[in-house]
Amino acid sequence: MKVTIDADACIGCSLCVSTCPEVYKMEDDKAVVIGSVVPKGAEDTCKKAVEDCPVTVIVIS
Ligand code: SF4
Repeated sequence: MKVTIDADACIGCSLCVSTCPEVYKMEDDKAVVIGSVVPKGAEDTCKKAVEDCPVTVIVIS
């Protein structure tokens, strides 16, 4: 499982980082994805972050 973030549309609320710090981190007031593949143990929290993003800019691929 992979996720990507539309950096231009991210509002930098850091909710995804709070929900799943294994996958997301803040960089210059925007969230970025750590690594190229979501670790197996972090898939559920990673998906929760996708669902909870207030501007729905995280996409699962
Ligand atoms: S939850 Fe969405 S808007 Fe908030 S920092 Fe993460 S990607 Fe950006």
